[in-house]
Amino acid sequence: MSAAALRHDWTREEVAALFALPFNELLHRAHSVHRAHHDPNAVQVSTLLSIKTGGCPEDCAYCPQAQRYQTGVQAEKLMSVEVVVARAQAAKDAGASRFCMGAAWRAPKDRDVAKVAEIVGAVKALGLETCATLGMLTGEQAATLKGAGLDYYNHNLDTAPEFYGEIIHTRGFQDRLDTLEHVRGAGLKTCCGGIVGMGETRAQRAGLLQTLANLPEHPESVPVNQLVQVPGTPLHGTKALDPFEFVRTIAVARILMPASMVRLSAGRQQMDDAVQALCFFAGANSIFYGEKLLTTGNPDVEADRALFRRLDLHALEVEAEPGTVHADILEPCAA
Ligand code: SF4
Repeated sequence: MSAAALRHDWTREEVAALFALPFNELLHRAHSVHRAHHDPNAVQVSTLLSIKTGGCPEDCAYCPQAQRYQTGVQAEKLMSVEVVVARAQAAKDAGASRFCMGAAWRAPKDRDVAKVAEIVGAVKALGLETCATLGMLTGEQAATLKGAGLDYYNHNLDTAPEFYGEIIHTRGFQDRLDTLEHVRGAGLKTCCGGIVGMGETRAQRAGLLQTLANLPEHPESVPVNQLVQVPGTPLHGTKALDPFEFVRTIAVARILMPASMVRLSAGRQQMDDAVQALCFFAGANSIFYGEKLLTTGNPDVEADRALFRRLDLHALEVEAEPGTVHADILEPCAA
């Protein structure tokens, strides 16, 4: 399918109708779309590093890094260039293609962006593709990061526009759209998805995916996160989402955004292997690989390798020119 054939005019009713399909019918459609655009046996593996943890002034109800919630996450300063480069080199040595760096800021100051730009340049020089998630950006800040060698910027829509105010009060949905516009305007690729299982309705899950699919360009990466319930956050204790509803969400994302990489992101540790296998069939073709996401756990590397062997999956090779890289994002600010 050419880019011109990608749709950006999905109605809420059309998306809701996809969610409402019989499960097997939905998976058949999603897998057919997946096969037409991707190798169904290839999964991209990405590595994520929190370069500045905790102490965030925002109030995202799912996030253990918000300073106002007592979650046990210790606030840390921005890592030095040397420390990040050492971690990036280790990720590269372990086979990572893309290296994603997350920082818990509402919106970085220009001096923060200058420091991150230095880090990005040093990581890029290792031959890795670079990705960052730093909060809201101005157009100038996005351009600075692009100039330093940043390839991707992660900024999630989190949830449907009409549910956003239930989850976050310190910024608005339009703020997210504005940053995404700045990022695209700077020529950066976008990584943009959301979180499900936060108490939203199916119609609101449809609203999230409809909004993503109707952006001016489909995000190159679409992380679909399942809420990781962290004690101390307001969403701890939320009724868990039916695993098959999560699979449906992956399938609908695949149908709406056929050429994008759909990332099975946060919450994978809470899924059993069978649900993960269904997600791969439904169109997920990326995971985070490693022992930690930003602050929540991730299935350990050996378990992932074993699952890949059992499902005959292989890691997607780096497709950029030799010496370049990839990495990805997770956890709301990084999920
Ligand atoms: S998700 Fe990001 S912006 Fe929200 S509280 Fe966490 S670190 Fe801050």
